[in-house]
This record gives sequence, C-alpha cells and structure tokens, in this order.
Amino acid sequence: MIANVIVDVPASSINQSFDYHIPEHFQGVIQPGMRVIVPFGSRNVMGFVTGLAHESSHNKLKTIAEVLDLTPVLTDELLELGMWLAEDTLSLYITAYQAMLPQVLKANYKKELERLTDASLPNQLESLFAGRLVVPYDELNDAGIGYHHVQKAIRQGDITVHYLVKSRVTKKRITYIKPSRDVHLLEEAYNDLSNRAKKQKELLAYFIQQPEEIKLNSLLKKLGTTRSTVNTLLEKQLLETSQQEIYRNPYDNQVFERTEALKLTDEQEKTMDPIKQDIKEERHDVFLIHGVTGSGKTEIYLQAIQDVIAKGEEAIVLVPEISLTPQMVKRFKGRFGSSVAVMHSALSNGEKYDEWRRIQQKDVQVVVGARSAVFAPFENLGVLIIDEEHENSYKQEDQPRYHARDVAIRRGRHHQCPVILGSATPALESYARAQKGVYQLATLSKRTNNKAMPQMELVDMRHELHAGNRSMFSRSLKNKVEQCISRGEQAVLLLNRRGYSTFVMCRECGHVKECPHCDIALTFHKNSNQLKCHYCSYEEPMPTYCPSCNSELIRFFGTGTQRMEEALVQLIPQARILRMDVDTTRRKGAHERLLNQFANKEADILLGTQMIAKGLDFENVTLVGVLTADSMLHLPDFRSAEKTFQLLTQVSGRAGRHELPGEVIVQTYTPEHYSIELASQYDYVRFYQNEMRVRKTFQYPPFVFLALITVSDENHAAAARAAQQIAKGLWQSVQTETVVLGPTPSPIPRMKDRYRYQCMIKYKNEPNLRSSIHRLIAQFDDQMRKSNLQITVDMQPYQLI
Ligand code: ADP
Ligand code: ZN
Ligand code: ZN
Repeated sequence: MIANVIVDVPASSINQSFDYHIPEHFQGVIQPGMRVIVPFGSRNVMGFVTGLAHESSHNKLKTIAEVLDLTPVLTDELLELGMWLAEDTLSLYITAYQAMLPQVLKANYKKELERLTDASLPNQLESLFAGRLVVPYDELNDAGIGYHHVQKAIRQGDITVHYLVKSRVTKKRITYIKPSRDVHLLEEAYNDLSNRAKKQKELLAYFIQQPEEIKLNSLLKKLGTTRSTVNTLLEKQLLETSQQEIYRNPYDNQVFERTEALKLTDEQEKTMDPIKQDIKEERHDVFLIHGVTGSGKTEIYLQAIQDVIAKGEEAIVLVPEISLTPQMVKRFKGRFGSSVAVMHSALSNGEKYDEWRRIQQKDVQVVVGARSAVFAPFENLGVLIIDEEHENSYKQEDQPRYHARDVAIRRGRHHQCPVILGSATPALESYARAQKGVYQLATLSKRTNNKAMPQMELVDMRHELHAGNRSMFSRSLKNKVEQCISRGEQAVLLLNRRGYSTFVMCRECGHVKECPHCDIALTFHKNSNQLKCHYCSYEEPMPTYCPSCNSELIRFFGTGTQRMEEALVQLIPQARILRMDVDTTRRKGAHERLLNQFANKEADILLGTQMIAKGLDFENVTLVGVLTADSMLHLPDFRSAEKTFQLLTQVSGRAGRHELPGEVIVQTYTPEHYSIELASQYDYVRFYQNEMRVRKTFQYPPFVFLALITVSDENHAAAARAAQQIAKGLWQSVQTETVVLGPTPSPIPRMKDRYRYQCMIKYKNEPNLRSSIHRLIAQFDDQMRKSNLQITVDMQPYQLI
C-alpha cells in the first residue's frame, strides 16, 4: 500500500503530495488525516496522510518511518477543505492543514497511553500496562506491539493517547468507585467479614445502601475511611474503579445560571422561521441578519442551535476575539451548559488542545470561538453562525490568508446546513449579496426592550476653533462629561486608532488632501515632505496653504491617548480617569483588570482606543464621546467610510443599554460627511446606497475583486526590481479590463529593515488569475531560497495600511 503525504517543508517547490510506501506493520493502521514521520531528503519530517493508493507512478518509494496519531486528526471533509483553502488563498497545503489544528498538533510532542477502564485488553497490551494506568508511548514502539490492537482499544474507549504538552500537566483525572457485584453479593460478603474488619464493613454497608458510583475523594471524606480500606475491597473485587478525564476547562469553576428560550418577538419569529426550516430539511442557505445591538440576534442564534442539538447535530459560533468576553460565554454556557467548548486565544496551548479534543471526541455539540474555530472538527454540522460578520478580524492576516466567512459558507454547503451572519452594520459585500438574493436578508428594526437608540449629537470642531477653543475637547463634550460625573454616572471616551497621524487636513475648513485618481486621502511623508497616494504612486509637495480656503492651518492630523489623558486631567481635574490602549493592556490580564475597575466604579471616565468600543456593557455608562470621528475617515483605505460608520454605530450601542438613558457626542471636522451624518441617524440602508455609489465610481469591492502582491527585501533595488517584473508579468497575463496598480511602495515602505513594494490587481472576471500569479512567483523560487526576497499574495486584502 501507498500513502500520499503532504510534508512539512514550507517551500512552493515542495507543495504537492509525495508517495510513500506503507510498511507491513502499519498496513491497515494508517488512514487519511493522520500525521506521520517520513524521510525527506536527508532528514525526517512530519507529514499529513491525505490519501491511500494501491500503486504509485514512481518506483523506489521511501517508507513511512513513524505514525504520530492512532486516530486521524483531520476528517475527510477537513482534508478536502484544506486543499481548497490552500488553492484559494495561494498558500501551501501544509500551511493550510496546520492552520486547522491546535498548536500542540503542529509538533511531535511526547505521548503516553492511558488506560481508561478495567476491561481486559489483548495480552500484549495487558503486559505492556502491567498493572500501570499510564505508560510512555515509546514503550509501545519498543515492545513492537501492533498498532491495530491499540487502535481497537482506543475505538472501544479502553485506552487513550495523550500528547504531553510542556509547561502544563496534560490531563486531570478523577477516580470513581462503584460496587462491582450485585447488592445481594455485597450483603453476603458483608456477613462473611469478621467483626474486626470494621472499616471494610462500613464501606460495604455504604454501597449496599447506595450502590452507585461516587468520586473516590467524596467517599473518603464522607465515611472518614482510608484509601487502603478501599484498596482491600478493590482487591477482593467487590468494588471497582473507573477514571474520568476532566479537561482543563477555564470556565470549570464558574457556575452558569441556566436560561430558557425566550418567546420570540414577531420580527424575530419572521427571521427564525426560514432558518428553522433549513435546519429541519437539511438545506443550505446563507442568512444575513441585519439588526442593531439589542435587537435579539443572539437569542435567534441560541434558538437555532437548540434545534440543531435536538437533531443530534453540531454548531459553530464565531465571534470576534475582542467580543469573546465572559458575558458572551455566559450566554451560551447558560443555555447549553457543558455542551459548549470555548476557543479563545487567551487559553494556554494545553487548554486549547483540550477544547479541541472535546470537539473531536464529540463531548460537546457547540463551539464558541474566534476565527480559527471555523475549523472545529465536527462531522455533523447543523448550523454555522458568524456574529458581527463585518469584523476584519475574521480575515487572517498571515498565511493562509483566509476569510472565516468563506470557510463557513463552504462548510455549510458541504453539510447542507444554514449559515447565519449577523451584524448591526453588515459588510458592504455581504449586504450587496443579500440585495442580489445570494444571501437571505432579515432585518430586526427594533430593540427587544423597545428603547430607542441613544441620541447622537455631532459637534463641529471647526466652530470650536473659530470660538477660540483650541483644545481637543469641545465645550459641549466638556459640559456633558462634567454633568455626567456629577450625577454619579460614568463616561466612555473614544479616540480612534493610535499612531496613524499621517493624513493632512485643514483645521479651518476641514479640507483633506486626496488623490485625484483614487479618492483616498494622501499620506504625509515626513522625510521627503511629500504627500503620496499608496494606491497609484501619485505624489505632490506638502502644501503650505489650504487649497480650498487659503488658511495656513493645514496640518497633518492626529494625537495619542496619552496626550489626551493629560489634557483631560487639566480640563476636568476632579475626574478619575482610566486609560486603555495598547500600552496599558500589554500585560496579560490587564484588559480585564481595567474593565473590572471601571465596572466597580473606581473611575469616572474610561479613555481608550477602539478596543473599548466592543463588548462593553456597563449599566452606569450614560455618555459616550468620540473625540475624533475623522481620524479613521481619511485613512488611505477605500473602506474608511465604512469603518467609520461601523465604529460610530457600534459605540452608540454602548450607551444607555439599561435603565438610564444614554447619549453620544461625536466630535468631527466633517459633520456633513455621509458616513458620519448617516451614522448619527442610524440609517444603514442609506449609508449602504451612498457608499455603493462611491465604490462603483472608483471601482472598488464589491464591484471588483482585489488581489494584493507584496514584495520585500533588505536590498531596496532587489525589491523594486522583483516588483517591477511581477507587475509586467501581470499586465501581460491579465485581460484588458483588469487593472494592475503599481508597483508602488507599500504604505509602510520599510518594515523591520525590509523595503516593501506592492502591486494591486482590480478585476471582475479573471479565471486564470491564481495560476498566473502562481507561475509568476514561481520564477522567484530560487531567488527566495538564496536571498531574503519575500513575496506574499493576499487574494482578499483587508489591511491596506
Ligand atoms: P443582539 O444580539 O442583537 O445584541 P440579544 O439577543 O443580545 O440582541 O438581545 C438583547 C436583549 O434582549 C438581551 O438581554 C436578551 O435576553 C433580550 N431578548 C432577546 N430576545 C428577546 C425576546 N424575544 N423577548 C424578551 N427579551 C429578549
Ligand atoms: Zn492614487
Ligand atoms: Zn482650508
């Protein structure tokens, strides 16, 4: 027999499966989806078995050296998904497979075998365990025991394999004791015991009354008896033990109050019906639920999952990492208890592996997690849900550069089950698909508590300047904050994004310098004193006067949270301020600590970057201030208007969620910009229509597709040359209506001492694009191996700056 193996050698010239001979003792053991060790060149490497065959077109095959798994770690579906993922994102197969697995399975960890039951094992295994509960895996190999026996025992649940992850104990077990005989036999034994064996009699008496399984520890405590007494009765085979693995569940010691399904509102009901229908009839559709915060989307997710579990199927729920808060976990654990696994990046490797294994072993039916949870190895998926589907964190920004939405939809199609996307501000792409009927649109227009969204007031910062207020806080915001504090309530102040202070704006009239060809703010380059466009290389000198109103107050724009805090202290000395940004949350747990302090009312104002915009839910917050709504608006990114609209909508959802009414103050130099104006009116649909016109005019997604190729090298000329060559090759291979922009220096032209260039491709229909790009880049294979040239391709770029 032959195995097809994808080896762990990350090079595009090796990106194919290789045939290996399966030695006698592994025949029938090796299955697709297992990891093996194979000789490759002069060394041994790890690989994934992707298929089996009877013959190979090559002769002189090498032989598989070792088998790492006794049960496949990738299902057939995931094997196929990985192939597609690699091809779709132009990544290596090995990279795609590794992205689907927990870290622990990416390396060859030491393993051990553990006996789980008292059931008798084949002789060879019995003598291997020799009375022990755990044996090192190496002993299995040394003893030359056939893997078939081990696999069979694993299938029967008698033994299991553990991967020994450094830094953590791999497993925790609880020992249970129960009678191994009928009660009347226990009674007989009781009568046979001499009265001197008082302890043993007590123990037997207990089990005669309660012939049920009990934790060893509880038993010892309850009866005040000893381990050796228990052992004596175990030896007499009157009692028996069993072990149960407990997982390092980070939510273990939390009790979640059980919740029941709520009676749906009419709007929810209308949204729910077709989803339920799909679940029942095993049909695949993509539903887009457009509904403001508090409109009851999560309740719909929960009820869909309930149907799925009732059918014996499984559910995946994706939420953005940053929203994966205890509050969020509580909603799912409260409804479904221990059937829920949580995949969070803050878990240790061991914990992540445990959660993954609970999924693989079908101990859970629901996984709630960030992006990579989309690969959960369920085999009977009944629904996939993506909350806040517009979030950019669903796009992975290194290899494989996939979007979780695409993966979810592909899995939904495979399993013939619905995919639910939910958002208050759907991605333009998603809403456009819903308009075309590719997705089924459902709208939840009301909050379930019937409260209006908080009033959003726009403050025109140009007027402030004219009135002589040069501070970053408008008079209106200052007053509102003071009033809020004096009422004993709390305020959240948001400063968009740290660091990106590079666009140029007139503080007199709000004019922003934009590229004449791209409708994108020009970026200020300090060393050359030039303004540049990062899409098309257009440039011009930094102006000294505003071209629109002739004012001299044209500056590059932006400020940091720290300066803001200092200014705030001066302005409102009585306020207690908490600052939350990348700097104050670097240490593990700092994020939660700050939020807890704020929840405990140890501060009046929470000041931070947009990391505070999400998931926050404080009863006492009645005022939200956005200090600079524009700072995101003019980033050199065609999605900047969309991101601004999303952010403002999201932030406003944070105020007045509870009894107290909320208020939002948005400071801006361009209150007339449609994204700001329409956000203040909570008018997503008009924003969508407006933004679609802009995208159409300037030919951006969803009207075209984008692909981004980035070339970098420590040698400036080498980077430029390669980029030039790729652009030229692209022009020659694409169709006439396709546009190749560049090469142009990347928005960050030098990073970690590497010079970066990029080419952007805008296309509508280019069926051969992937293979063309692949071919073009393959020309540089040699150079990439020998020098430090790097070329990356992103077939769905989101991070443009
Ligand atoms: P979203 O996910 O859209 O923000 P949620 O599902 O969290 O909305 O609902 C907001 C609040 O309304 C929650 O407290 C939830 O328990 C409650 N809620 C949701 N649906 C209903 C309903 N049908 N009846 C009563 N309360 C509901
Ligand atoms: Zn341009
Ligand atoms: Zn001006």
